[in-house]
Amino acid sequence: MTLAHTLGYPRIGANRELKKATEAYWKGDIDRKALEATGAELRARHWQSQRDAGLDWVTVGDFAFYDQVLNVSMLLGAVPKRFASGDGEVDLDTSFRMARGRAPTGHPAAACEMTKYFDTNYHYLVPELYAGQSFQLTSERLFDEVDEAIGAGHPVKVSLLGPLTWLWLGKAKDEGLDRLSLLDAILPVYDEILDRLSSQGVDWVQLDEPALVQDLSQDWKQAFESAYNQLQSAPVKRLLTTYFGGLGDNLQLAVGLPVDGLHIDAVRDPEQLPRVIDNLSPYKVLSVGAIDGRNIWRADLAALQDSLSDAKSRLGERLWLAPSCSLLHVPVDVETEAKLDGELKSWLSFARQKLDEVVTLSHLLDGRQTVEDESRLDAAIKALDARRSSARIHKVAVTERMKAICDADAQRPAPYAERVKAQRRVLDLPLFPTTTIGSFPQTNEIRTARRDFKTGKLGQTDYEERMRAEIADAVSRQERLGLDLLVHGEAERNDMVEYFGELLEGFAFTQYGWVQSYGSRCVKPPIIFGDVSRPTPMTVRWSEFAQAQTNKPMKGMLTGPVTILQWSFVRDDQLRETTCRQVALALRDEVADLEAAGISAIQIDEPALREGLPLRQAQWPSYLDWAVTCFRLSASVARNETQIHTHMCYSEFNDIIASIAALDADVITIETSRSDMELLDAFQDFQYPNEIGPGVYDIHSPNIPEVSWMVQLVEKAAERIPADRLWVNPDCGLKTRAWAEVEPALANMVEAALELRRRHA
Ligand code: GLN
Ligand code: ZN
Repeated sequence: MTLAHTLGYPRIGANRELKKATEAYWKGDIDRKALEATGAELRARHWQSQRDAGLDWVTVGDFAFYDQVLNVSMLLGAVPKRFASGDGEVDLDTSFRMARGRAPTGHPAAACEMTKYFDTNYHYLVPELYAGQSFQLTSERLFDEVDEAIGAGHPVKVSLLGPLTWLWLGKAKDEGLDRLSLLDAILPVYDEILDRLSSQGVDWVQLDEPALVQDLSQDWKQAFESAYNQLQSAPVKRLLTTYFGGLGDNLQLAVGLPVDGLHIDAVRDPEQLPRVIDNLSPYKVLSVGAIDGRNIWRADLAALQDSLSDAKSRLGERLWLAPSCSLLHVPVDVETEAKLDGELKSWLSFARQKLDEVVTLSHLLDGRQTVEDESRLDAAIKALDARRSSARIHKVAVTERMKAICDADAQRPAPYAERVKAQRRVLDLPLFPTTTIGSFPQTNEIRTARRDFKTGKLGQTDYEERMRAEIADAVSRQERLGLDLLVHGEAERNDMVEYFGELLEGFAFTQYGWVQSYGSRCVKPPIIFGDVSRPTPMTVRWSEFAQAQTNKPMKGMLTGPVTILQWSFVRDDQLRETTCRQVALALRDEVADLEAAGISAIQIDEPALREGLPLRQAQWPSYLDWAVTCFRLSASVARNETQIHTHMCYSEFNDIIASIAALDADVITIETSRSDMELLDAFQDFQYPNEIGPGVYDIHSPNIPEVSWMVQLVEKAAERIPADRLWVNPDCGLKTRAWAEVEPALANMVEAALELRRRHA
């Protein structure tokens, strides 16, 4: 019998119950008991779904009120001093304090840093590591949840982040600290955890070690060896789980570790399967991650049955099946999508459906399919056939256009040195020109108007009128502030990807397709299902209207192709880069139309450029190559005198600075203020060729930045970058702020630019 299981299940609930309860608890609307009750209810429901689907275990340990990495930090007693209460008690509130930045006294304390979990859009709380740190079992939560599941009569497999990946995700807070030096202090706690689980009656523990799909140095490889050799005493079986990619050069290491089973990602890297089987000891099981845990497409069960039959005959009972990774990264249940048309819906599979797919596939491989399995197989074959040939997906015009792309399309007519002369003539900007990143405060009135328009309460004409009034207001405020290059303010946009997705062909939107992004925050990524094209202009009328309100130049505002790709669920029937190129071509038309409408500066935002980087360094160049080309395809239709801007934030850019330069944007505005111009280190050895606006104030903070502070930051930048190529701007869009914060902040920023002009005249 092929065992079926899952590495994890979404915890937020089909209606985001967890989000609502957690936020209510933070606000004080419900008490701790009520919050815990919601957690227990969701766990019970999700375990039941796993049982109902026919999985051989329910997975315990994947639940978290905030974050599963934080849960492990709590389990190990890795609580930074500033959050520890006097009595040493570590509880749920401690974890919320770590996540949200509060000391036990209630005073603000710097929250733990948050960053993306591998290449997902899920953010975890970075474990803080200190020299000589001690670890002890300080949380009972996991064991309580195990009892809960056993009490409900479920067969239990526990999921636990492995010790090496926990350290890998951590950050050394003491200079020179080697994270691995803490391993010996952690392992006894892991041993104790495994012992406790075993004494509760748990047979299998899944130890997640996705670090094994990344490039590991020799000392990390050795640490894997020695850690798993030490973690032997507890009488519990260990399944080492790897996902988000192939094992690559870590294959021998992973296959050789002394555990009882291995899980591999056979979606991202199907080729590794035979090699893993060749090397697997006969006493180990192999869990094959065959159903895509990172995307929302219905699985090709017939093809999988075929491609896995060899593994089945070679492994027999030692073959297990699962999704490639935890289902945390996909929405809960496609059945709830009442508004999606039936055909599109039949192509999709969310977490709930993926459980069924795993179970059916296991039955098919065993030759013990039920009537239900047969009909699922049938439905999958039909849906995939329809999808492969659907005219909704495949557009001849798009294919033709893609074929016709040539190198020159990704090349501006002249190099920057010449373009800049033309642009200065047209734009006539002062030294240290000031601008903003695009969005202005999204007031309640704006949100209400947009919502009312969506629900039909507000008609098209009234809605457009409201938005135009907002734009006119934003323009006049900018004029009063004395800014140089203006923006329209993005009042009409709910979200920088959704806005464009809704206007492009080839995109679909769900009603409930929420995925946890961090803590109680969820996102609802669009689904790119078909060839992308742009039926009509998307932003032109807003920008045109905005330009008509002022004599100053108005900057058009677009979201770039890589960011649109990165923040969507994308097609699995063509390469990511192909989809990205299609988006790029659609944006290219928008650039051309904006230009024709008299817009002389156009910004193409690419905040997600860096997060698209593959997990393996060897694949970086090819990704960066197509990502840069896609951006350039969008931008290069512009005439020399049209100034192309781009904007980036949310990440460190120093190691991809050459690719950022290769975008060949005339101006880049970039986040730096939080790291005190750390970015500038990159310009020590690298001569950035074009213009740059290193963000001079942190828009994430409500504080009003001081003039002298901003002057000093730009002076620092001027040591590395010629003054006539520097811009003065905030480090991101202002939509989350209030006008009462934005106006004084921008007034100071303009003042700082005036001071800089005096100094450098
Ligand atoms: N133009 C966008 C804005 O100002 C950019 C947002 C972003 O960088 N994430 O809101
Ligand atoms: Zn930004």
